[in-house]
Amino acid sequence: MKDQKRIAIYGKGGIGKSSTASNVAAACADEGYKVMIIGCDPKSDSSITLLGGKRIPTILDLLKQHLDVNEKDIVFEGYGGVKCVEVGGPEPGIGCAGRGIIVAIQKLQKVCPSMNDMDLIIYDVPGDIVCGGFVAPIRKGLVTEAYILTSGEYMPLYAANNICKGLAKIDTPLSGIICNSRSVTREEEIVRKFSEEIGSRLVAFIPKEQVVQDCERDGFSVLEKAPKSDIAQVYRDLAKSIMFNDQSILPGSLDDERLRELTR
Ligand code: SF4
Repeated sequence: MKDQKRIAIYGKGGIGKSSTASNVAAACADEGYKVMIIGCDPKSDSSITLLGGKRIPTILDLLKQHLDVNEKDIVFEGYGGVKCVEVGGPEPGIGCAGRGIIVAIQKLQKVCPSMNDMDLIIYDVPGDIVCGGFVAPIRKGLVTEAYILTSGEYMPLYAANNICKGLAKIDTPLSGIICNSRSVTREEEIVRKFSEEIGSRLVAFIPKEQVVQDCERDGFSVLEKAPKSDIAQVYRDLAKSIMFNDQSILPGSLDDERLRELTR
């Protein structure tokens, strides 16, 4: 198997993981890398902006229908040749997201040998990693680098802090923090400080720009729809930092008092 980067982007729900993941995927594809994005969120919106707004069937849905699943049923080529896969979600009330991810990825590995050929695989993971199920991709060795996405608000930082505790507990290094701005006062400073205090670094500050939402609403990544925008360049720089990153640390975490103090 070639030298492959397999990253997961963690962070509080609704903080912009899917949009960041798809823009990074598009930016890497523009640089000529072979990229696969695996959406593990039940909303399955990781790949939609790479596919012109088209929703693809999820592996778990197809498996639930007891279909004989082939590569062409679950792997769809999107912008820049990015291979898009959606795992799908558990049935409300009975399924386990973590278990679902593992079953789906095992199927994917079986029917898609070209997965080994990728330069970068991005796992867009749901949730705040507080339960064991959501760390399933790491535990199974599917992920080699973890990033955390947050804003400078208390709740996303609280989730980020919890994720750090989770990663440390399972002995998985953190490669950096990405700030997806909500235009909070002193936001970059807050997130930079947080990153330093847990022993990591701020890899990128993504400013809040309407163009991201506009492109998303139309079903496209910024890289495809607004490649000349400033924000497209921010994603390109982030993609470069990820591809060339060789710094990972086992993260520390802050106590709640310090976390509150930081965001005050
Ligand atoms: S292990 Fe996690 S994902 Fe699975 S059912 Fe429990 S809380 Fe949900």
